Amino acid sequence: MSKLDTAELAVSWQKLATRTPPDVRAYVQQLSLDHDDSLATFFYEQMLSTASAQVFLTHKQVQTRLHQSLKQWLVEMFSAHLQDSMLAVVMKQIKVGEIHARIHIPVYLVLRGARFLKQAYADLLDASPLSFDDRIIAMRYVASFIDMGMEIMSYAYGQSKDRLARAEESYRLFAVVQDATVEHGKQRAAILDWENVFIFQVAVQQGTKVLPRITSSDFGLWFRHKGAYAFEGSTEAQSIYHAMSKIDNELIPLLEQVEPAHETTVQALCQLRELTRSIALELNSLFERHNELESGRDVLTRLLSRKYLPVVLNKEIAYAQKRSKSFALIGIDIDYFKEVNDSYGHEAGDKVLQQFAELLMAHTRSGDYVFRLGGEEFLLVLVDVDEDGVWRIAKKLKEALGAESFHLPQNLHISVTASFGITMFDGHPDYQHILRRVDAVLYKAKSAGRNCIVFEQ
Ligand code: GH3
Ligand code: MG
Ligand code: MG
Repeated sequence: MSKLDTAELAVSWQKLATRTPPDVRAYVQQLSLDHDDSLATFFYEQMLSTASAQVFLTHKQVQTRLHQSLKQWLVEMFSAHLQDSMLAVVMKQIKVGEIHARIHIPVYLVLRGARFLKQAYADLLDASPLSFDDRIIAMRYVASFIDMGMEIMSYAYGQSKDRLARAEESYRLFAVVQDATVEHGKQRAAILDWENVFIFQVAVQQGTKVLPRITSSDFGLWFRHKGAYAFEGSTEAQSIYHAMSKIDNELIPLLEQVEPAHETTVQALCQLRELTRSIALELNSLFERHNELESGRDVLTRLLSRKYLPVVLNKEIAYAQKRSKSFALIGIDIDYFKEVNDSYGHEAGDKVLQQFAELLMAHTRSGDYVFRLGGEEFLLVLVDVDEDGVWRIAKKLKEALGAESFHLPQNLHISVTASFGITMFDGHPDYQHILRRVDAVLYKAKSAGRNCIVFEQ
């Protein structure tokens, strides 16, 4: 998708406005102001009667906030005539589209909402004292504005979804292939090993032979179970599958039938060599993506970086909703960390961060996620826990931190404290909602004097 030219959109939107007589525009503006509440109510009544929309709208915060934002959306849109305010309206549509993407509202439901709104405006205009002609002009104006809003929202929605899909892909790589450089070397060597053993066996075996298949080799196993998943959907992975199947199902059966000295053997071996080379090349190109993969990992601590926060939280929100489970976030910020740097130097600070990260890893389960959000701020995503469970984990962690001696260069040791803010998933489908909450509660722990845990629902 090409980049959206917001200024150009604002101009075309403004054109839609200026082709409508000012008195009709003013009438619609007033109509929106007078009826914003009933329009929003009508909208949600209609939407809630749609079973598939209920899952997105039943959370009480969503209802109260969306009611308010829908009113605002209508009023702002129909009050904007100048180019500057039009640009603000364009930006607003982008923001709304992004929110829809984050909470996974399907586009058809948004468009259905737009249909209800147009219907509601048509009813209001029918009951208005406007002349028939003016009512038509007004309705065209309303419809063109709502459509324009939908168009921009859908664009932003698509962009957000694409971004998320890319992050998901690279997360998959990250989850499966722990260290891409090492793995790449290992698998390249495994392909060559298999080829060597294979050629040796062709050369020495006579009579009935059963030759080793590449799919059962070390490389084949790795590829089928991990590589193919990590690189799912890529053309390279498909080519590798294809080459392996050609080797196993065409060339090897042929080689099993003929004598080593036979001319067919030489030809088949040449083909086999070409195919294994092509597998190695495809593998190179797959692993070149490891740069992208590495960028999702924090270089200093090897923890997850912020990049994967949307993927992980979306995944856990969907999981919690589907299985009526809960998860918790613990925001952690080291206290007075600047002083560590100031007193012992940046390198010492880095060491503390690394040891701190290890401590976090040691106190979480393998299903949990540990992020370094930046600087000396961390986030734990604890899956499948209730309130007691998360309390226990946080307390243990704080205790362990209290007992931990941090090793600095020149054999120095110090201790550090941190502030903890805990919050539970409350059913809100937008991950930014829970992130804002954990930020707020961590801030409270800081304000309460640091070195403490604050837990808020
Ligand atoms: P507070 O208790 O309010 O959290 O105080 P603080 O000093 O921990 O917080 P502040 O945000 O004032 O300072 C954070 C410091 O962390 C400043 C910065 O130099 C340091 N820092 C951020 N990232 C790194 C890093 O990667 N390595 C090192 N050594 N220091 C870092
Ligand atoms: Mg700090
Ligand atoms: Mg901080």
